[in-house]
Amino acid sequence: MVTQAPIEQQFNVLLAARFARGCTVYGDERTTLYEQARRDVAAAQRAEQGKAVTANQAKARAMRAGAEQMLAAGLSASGYRRLAESIALQHSTTIEWRSPSQMPAGAGAYASIQKRNVVCPRIEGTRQECEKRFATFLHEQGHILAEACTGRDHQPDPSDRRWHRCLRCEQTAWSIGMSLFPFSREMFAKLRWALQTYRRTTKGPATAVDALDRQCGSLTWAQSRQAWAVKGEKTGLNRKREQLERARKGR
Ligand SMILES: [Zn+2]
Ligand SMILES: [Zn+2]
Repeated sequence: MVTQAPIEQQFNVLLAARFARGCTVYGDERTTLYEQARRDVAAAQRAEQGKAVTANQAKARAMRAGAEQMLAAGLSASGYRRLAESIALQHSTTIEWRSPSQMPAGAGAYASIQKRNVVCPRIEGTRQECEKRFATFLHEQGHILAEACTGRDHQPDPSDRRWHRCLRCEQTAWSIGMSLFPFSREMFAKLRWALQTYRRTTKGPATAVDALDRQCGSLTWAQSRQAWAVKGEKTGLNRKREQLERARKGR
């Protein structure tokens, strides 16, 4: 949707240009000119959005580099928070950090897909706790990026009116989460715990249950480690991590 005012403005610019050339503009031609103004404004807005996205990507990369330095320096809480914020920015998502006691009943964290907003427990505590909460963030980000909950084995539980409960959605969001950042052992343990809890409390079709079980399996874990190792070799990410690690140890 575009607002009326800029279109009117552009229409007047086009009209003035015609008048300047000594043309008079009547009826149908006015309509054509108005359509042209509408297209011009839409194109300008797309260009603006494109610029904003590019600026955000650059900002996200800088944030991520900062986060990795914090993590290398052993600053888990601020490092993982910054890392989460950089990933969220990269995907045009906003994060609301809350203390777990401020979460609504029945939710450890949640995502508002329409608003592209995730509400997550603030990352703090020991390194293990930070990793678990970082994993929770990645899962919620996964919900934002996931396919719509329709068709095939997406079968949300109709008995819960407050929360959208669908086994396939849960499994998919974790799968996407694992594609956003390499999961540590601690993070994968969080995934397992969350999915197995879901499996016990939510009904779903056998195919969705199978996919969920595979997602929790050791094979998925091994494959993910492997995929990230290959990716790290290609991008020089591993080397950068090693350098940071050495710098931290003063070597
Ligand atoms: Zn679903
Ligand atoms: Zn979820």
